[in-house]
Amino acid sequence: MARVVVLGAGISGHTAAMFAKRKLGSHHEVIVVSPNSKWNWIPSNIWVGVGQMRPEDVIFELEPVYDKLGISFKQAKAISIHPEGDTNSNNGFVTIEYTGQGKEGQNEQVAYDYLINATGPKLNFAATEGLGPDKFTQSVCTYSHAQEANEHFQVAIEKMKKGETQRFLIGTGHGMCTCQGAAFEYIFNIDHELRALGLRDKAELTWISNEYELGDFGVGGMHIKRGGYITNGKIFAESLFTERELHWITRAHVNKIEKGIAHYETLEGEDKSVEFDFAMLIPPFAGVGLKAFGKDGTDITSQLFAANGFLKVDADYTAKPFEKWSANDWPKTYQNPIYKNLFACGIAFAPPHAISKPLVSTKGVNIFPTPPRTGMPSGIIGKAVALSIVDMINGANEPTHLASMAHMGAACVASAGKGLFGGAAASITMYPVVPDYETYPEYGRDINYTTGEIGTAGHWIKEILHHMFLYKAKAKPFWFIIPE
Ligand SMILES: Cc1cc2nc3c(=O)[nH]c(=O)nc-3n(C[C@H](O)[C@H](O)[C@H](O)COP(=O)(O)OP(=O)(O)OC[C@H]3O[C@@H](n4cnc5c(N)ncnc54)[C@H](O)[C@@H]3O)c2cc1C
Repeated sequence: MARVVVLGAGISGHTAAMFAKRKLGSHHEVIVVSPNSKWNWIPSNIWVGVGQMRPEDVIFELEPVYDKLGISFKQAKAISIHPEGDTNSNNGFVTIEYTGQGKEGQNEQVAYDYLINATGPKLNFAATEGLGPDKFTQSVCTYSHAQEANEHFQVAIEKMKKGETQRFLIGTGHGMCTCQGAAFEYIFNIDHELRALGLRDKAELTWISNEYELGDFGVGGMHIKRGGYITNGKIFAESLFTERELHWITRAHVNKIEKGIAHYETLEGEDKSVEFDFAMLIPPFAGVGLKAFGKDGTDITSQLFAANGFLKVDADYTAKPFEKWSANDWPKTYQNPIYKNLFACGIAFAPPHAISKPLVSTKGVNIFPTPPRTGMPSGIIGKAVALSIVDMINGANEPTHLASMAHMGAACVASAGKGLFGGAAASITMYPVVPDYETYPEYGRDINYTTGEIGTAGHWIKEILHHMFLYKAKAKPFWFIIPE
């Protein structure tokens, strides 16, 4: 009997665990370790953040689902990986610390034959002084953050109803952030809600981000086919912002927040500030801080993990200038090069480099988006890793499933406001996610599959996806035929 241990029950880890168990059946064991007892459909947190959904609409308890599937669940956070075992055993194991199930604070060693690290990001609010819900800004990265953001949003609404003007600042809270898409959805939803309430004239909405141009989204922007012509993402995004009277600040590294004021520096080296009554700024992401130890207890964290804390996999991590980047640098199997039974999927794997061009300010500060690993790639990679491990358990010598982001398309439906008839979403497809200028010299992507449209039908798709992915994650009948 083989044992597969999955760290993290987010989009990637949960998908991996479900597919691994479905294929392995009762002959082998699948264990999920995750600190939160609940699963969260994170994309719908945007709607929690504007009061259009309740936290209960975007979460459910994991343990009953795992009981149904025959997966063991440990409500705990992983602390360290010991890929060679220790002096007592040659078996790899992880050390975990319980956060629930009545064992809070207790440590345990969980042995594995195969380990999948799907721990997602650490929300690194500490990188910017004053950033985060404990300080002066809101977040929608978790359902509880989103709920808190909505409480502050409702306070702002009450003030506007009394005639006060409110200044909203939405975007990224550091020069090295990713996840601009989530902030984009949030500013559009705020705009939509305020228009529906007849309060839009009482609000000033400002976007701030580390993108070189609007529409970069951490994927180096894109050229899109739209209504029969080709345009670039900058024009697409700027026209959406202009239509909605949203101001924008780009090329900005927010370096300090005080009550009601965000300080930032620009690529040109200028120090500026912007005042706000309500701010939602996405934090930079880092790895969750797992340590790794060799058999004799030597700290091997830096061998296994990149400096940003994400696990190294089969990518080409050789430092090279932007001009030398290749689609082939990107990982395909997500297997660690040293320990062949160790994999990482979703946000937890270390990308070889950014996708957007790295830019440094005149003062030497990095101001560019880091690469996103959105829900669709995270799910696809989780499934591919699980299926490779299943084949390896059944005798394959190496991973059998490939899922390179340079050979993978992605669809992103970015909400621009909720409502059956008045709602809208920008539906963006791209192929591949990582531009490949060798295969597609003109735009880096296949222009026939890289598209963007905004409209009410997009909202219907977004709403359907919400229900479909919750259905799948709850392992309801035929869950496995729903694509990632
Ligand atoms: C507000 C918001 C909106 C978004 N909207 C979209 C969208 O519309 N479309 C889209 O494609 N993507 C969207 N994304 C991105 C998407 O949510 C991520 O790509 C996806 O969640 C990544 O999956 P993951 O499994 O890698 O990480 P996560 O989903 O973050 O899961 C990580 C898991 O690891 C657990 N964990 C953390 N630390 C440990 C530890 N030490 N040990 C064990 N487990 C641990 C966590 O509790 C969690 O269960 C959005 C993101 C945000 C923040």
